[in-house]
Amino acid sequence: MHKQTFEKQTLLLNYMASRKLYMDSIDSCYLKNFTAQVTAIDDNSVTLDQTLFYPLGGGQNWDTGTITWDGGKLSVTEVRGRADVQHYVGEDHGLSIGDSVEGKIDWNRRHAHMRMHTAQHLVSGLVYELYDGARTVGNQIHADRSRIDFNPVKFSEEMIEDLFHKANEMVESNLDVTDCVMTRDEINSIMPPERTNMDLLPISVKQLRIIRIGDNVDLCPCAGTHVRALGEIGEMEFLGKKNKGKGTTRISYTLEGCES
Ligand SMILES: [Zn+2]
Repeated sequence: MHKQTFEKQTLLLNYMASRKLYMDSIDSCYLKNFTAQVTAIDDNSVTLDQTLFYPLGGGQNWDTGTITWDGGKLSVTEVRGRADVQHYVGEDHGLSIGDSVEGKIDWNRRHAHMRMHTAQHLVSGLVYELYDGARTVGNQIHADRSRIDFNPVKFSEEMIEDLFHKANEMVESNLDVTDCVMTRDEINSIMPPERTNMDLLPISVKQLRIIRIGDNVDLCPCAGTHVRALGEIGEMEFLGKKNKGKGTTRISYTLEGCES
């Protein structure tokens, strides 16, 4: 492709992509209100130039909330898209490109996701360390219960008890959770690439946003939302395990105050 054309397309993409305000820092995960402009519309959704609404992805469920503007208020029931973020508000929304809106996320749901997601990092790191490098091969983060798939591992009752005991000890330690940008080499010099799943990322990815627990107790490349300190997770409770075949076991958990 001609260089100039390529640059033009890159600029266009950058212009089009919605800015993820919750990605700025761990602190920005705690923001609840924002202002934005509508950049695209269709029958039942609007795309905004910037947003605090987390779109479904990385195993984490979407945020819900409201969009308010001069003359209207709508519930956001679903949020999707990795570059442009579509906010589903239902038919006949009446919004036009260029309209200014105020967004507000449902904080109880978001905070539960932040706690659940940080708990997932904690448990994934512990399982890798305790059980011969068993890896996290999938996860689903919801507000009331979450699940993580590990491979290869089979959990006895004692192993589960030990795992949740250690996880809750870590929660009580209240270590800081921070974010930073690291190069591939930096990450791999601190932690085995099998633990961070760095070995699964395309070699072209040179720098990553990292979520760090304590002083490199855990590192995880991640674009989700997280809490500032482990204590905020609250007590973790094991809900169940399920054999998913081929050495994969699914573990479900909930947190204090999140039970449905
Ligand atoms: Zn994460």
